[in-house]
Amino acid sequence: MVATTMDQLVSLCKRRGFIFQNADIYGGMQGVYDYGPLGVELKNNLKAAWWRSMVYERDDVEGLDAAILTNRKVLKYSGHEDTFSDPMTDCRKCKGRFRADHIKDGKCPNCGSTDLTEPRPFNLMFKTQVGPVESDENLAYLRPETAQAIFTQFKNVVDSTSRKLPFGIAQIGKSFRNEITPRNFIFRVREFEQAELEFFVNPGEDEKWHEHWKEARVQWWEEQGLPREHINIYKTPDADLAHYAKACYDIEYQFPHGMEELEGIANRRDYDLGNHTKNQEEFQLEAHCHENKDSTTKLAIMDDNNKWIIPFVVEPSMGVDRGVLAVLTEAYTEEDLGEGNSRIVLKLKKHLAPIKVAVIPLKKNNEQIMAKCHEIKNNLLKLGIGRVALENTGNIGKAYRRHDEVGTPLCVTVDFETIEQQPETVTIRDRDTMEQHRVAVADLPRYLKEYFL
Ligand code: ATP
Repeated sequence: MVATTMDQLVSLCKRRGFIFQNADIYGGMQGVYDYGPLGVELKNNLKAAWWRSMVYERDDVEGLDAAILTNRKVLKYSGHEDTFSDPMTDCRKCKGRFRADHIKDGKCPNCGSTDLTEPRPFNLMFKTQVGPVESDENLAYLRPETAQAIFTQFKNVVDSTSRKLPFGIAQIGKSFRNEITPRNFIFRVREFEQAELEFFVNPGEDEKWHEHWKEARVQWWEEQGLPREHINIYKTPDADLAHYAKACYDIEYQFPHGMEELEGIANRRDYDLGNHTKNQEEFQLEAHCHENKDSTTKLAIMDDNNKWIIPFVVEPSMGVDRGVLAVLTEAYTEEDLGEGNSRIVLKLKKHLAPIKVAVIPLKKNNEQIMAKCHEIKNNLLKLGIGRVALENTGNIGKAYRRHDEVGTPLCVTVDFETIEQQPETVTIRDRDTMEQHRVAVADLPRYLKEYFL
């Protein structure tokens, strides 16, 4: 059981600059959050770890960064215009609106009334206008998932890279859903980031790859610091599958508010490429596709027998914000140090830590010590280990406390001994053990490279 509460996380995130309510000074906007100075680093590090494992460490995946504004036809043929809705129920008493699947025992989750409307569909997509004239023709959407642009760019990617099956296209970016009940901090929000891989395979090999990605993704989450016992794999019953899916696993994590979806791994079969394809009748599509009168292209690929086929696709799709919430939940620790003392420490994996090394002067505003701090910081930056921060707060105890709370794995302290004695040495303090030892300044690059890389 994870003991961390949402209140502890929300408070730490605001106090230390990880996550703020959007438009806070105007009372906030529901379901929209901004990442602060340390949140942006943590989120970038999580995305970099994903990109590294999905793109750089593989020889069969290419990247993409497509637009958020989405042509209406894309979401018409993907099925989102017709089906991307949650059935909603209104409470006639308190006027609250809730997802029908969140109503338990026929009672309003807010006031307990049983005077509820029948569930009605509610489309989750944000509409906007492209160009100055407001008309139906100029209607566009903010994408509700990053996946569709991967499908519509499939042919361009294949033609420009000469890829053969199996291969994947990876993308990280913002998605928008007008969620009815945004809740649980950054867990369910209206503007969020997804990291999605569309992995295209020969029909018939889809089930094998679906299993592969389920295992690979659980392992990746473990590498981000989530222990296996806090993860659950939920297989969606056939009746609850999304309109495009043949099968789906949810990787669930024990969030402070309960075991909930962190990442979905769907077998989308040939549904999307098929739907966006011209002359579908040429292909033996297993999926039921909309007839497409607008597409100019066949989203197909030549198989080993020189036959054009529409690949099946397996999609690991992670919510980046939910990932940030999960690693924070896991890392948050309150430690009793005895004699009435305690500390909060964020035991993030070192590759995720927003600040890798804090360089701290023992005495504030001492010119010689500060000059040495600057020199050390600039040298450490060259190692490419990530952010190295220079402190000048003057109170060493407070600086250690602050860096424990934001998860900085190592603090390097420069004191009088550093500048007065040869060879020059500094104190290195470890976040988790709080142990300190002296290291020669000349040895720092080797020491830190070994530690971080
Ligand atoms: P849920 O059932 O929780 O609404 P979903 O099944 O609709 O999620 P998918 O469409 O599979 O979600 O999207 C893939 C991933 O995107 C999810 O696993 C989740 O991590 C993330 N995600 C989806 N909706 C949101 C949201 N409103 N806020 C934050 N992350 C989201």
